[in-house]
Amino acid sequence: LNRRLAGMGTTIFAEMSALAVRTGSINLGQGFPDTDGPAEVAEAAARAIREGHGNQYPPGPGIPELRQAVADHQRRFYGLEYDPETEVLVTAGATEAIAAALLALLEPGDEVIALEPYYDSYAACIAMAGAVRVPVTLHPPDFALDPDQLRRAVTPRTRLLLINSPHNPTGAVLSREELTAIAELACERDLLVVTDEVYEHLVYDGHEHVPLASLPGMRERTVSISSAGKTFSFTGWKIGWVTSTPELVTAVRTAKQFLTYVSGGPFQYAVAEALRLPESYFTGLRDDLRQRRDLLAAGLAEAGFTVYAPKGTYFITTDIRSLGEEDGMAFCRSLPERCGVVAIPNVVFYDDEKAGRPLVRFAFCKRPEVLTSAVDRLRQLG
Ligand code: PMP
Ligand code: GLN
Repeated sequence: LNRRLAGMGTTIFAEMSALAVRTGSINLGQGFPDTDGPAEVAEAAARAIREGHGNQYPPGPGIPELRQAVADHQRRFYGLEYDPETEVLVTAGATEAIAAALLALLEPGDEVIALEPYYDSYAACIAMAGAVRVPVTLHPPDFALDPDQLRRAVTPRTRLLLINSPHNPTGAVLSREELTAIAELACERDLLVVTDEVYEHLVYDGHEHVPLASLPGMRERTVSISSAGKTFSFTGWKIGWVTSTPELVTAVRTAKQFLTYVSGGPFQYAVAEALRLPESYFTGLRDDLRQRRDLLAAGLAEAGFTVYAPKGTYFITTDIRSLGEEDGMAFCRSLPERCGVVAIPNVVFYDDEKAGRPLVRFAFCKRPEVLTSAVDRLRQLG
């Protein structure tokens, strides 16, 4: 393993999901739903395979139907206009979009500012690009962005801001004010922005997902990334996409074509249909997940965790110090044995170990009865 990837080991998600299988624990670690997405979307994929759509290499930028559907979705939900010919790129999940964007846009030694805690692939992809990660930490209880801290992190070497909202693992949803501060700074210092918005539809309690690209001056400097995994509960399909200017999309595509070239032909047809589902699908998903969030949040609080209720995503971050514990990593490694539940130690998403040490993340994209029995088990901890 080269120096750039030294110490990256196995992702925490793979480690913890394997632990869940090995110990027969309830897996509230890795974020994937335990029920599949809409049957008609699954059927669209099966039909595409049967009818021979996408069984051979699809076009490099993605099938035209999906690029059009992505563009229409951006207009329908946010009033953003993208040309499906030149401004949309289909990728192998958001994961490849992130990798391709960073590999395409960064020079070795460039600094990338990322919100900390950061999703694990950010650190790895910044490292693979030979660039340098500069974290700006979000702090409990609300994990708000401190615009002064962000401003102070910019140096002459800063090339790019890597933003994620709704934010994994904290569940923070950046407000219009926070996003405006990011936008003003990006324009003032002429920075590129890569924004990971895979949880765009998982926002609760009247909070609003505002795409960074919709702010003044941002469309031309922003690479927006999303994916079908979270919105349609098909995380295994790995269909993601990028929307940006022709120049930036071409740059990302240049890297992408040498990573996977193309992927998921038949699934692209199905996701094109999914993006056109009626409003009721999106509100239904949100309402359903909000109820599950409330169920798990209440249960975790009863079990003695300090709960930071998320505004978005399907994750709840907790602090275990109220249980008399300090070390989230040790806690998560022992939890399956102690009570048969798996969770994720947030410390793996931090450079600042002290900030992340007592924090533990639970996923609530699981059936209510599964959440209830997880909570019953966690109550025995006390
Ligand atoms: N970004 C974030 C913030 C995520 O939580 C995930 C989760 N899986 C991804 C990207 C990757 O998305 P995909 O599965 O579409 O590659
Ligand atoms: N995004 C998912 C999570 O945060 C994990 C995806 C993965 O395993 N790479 O749990």
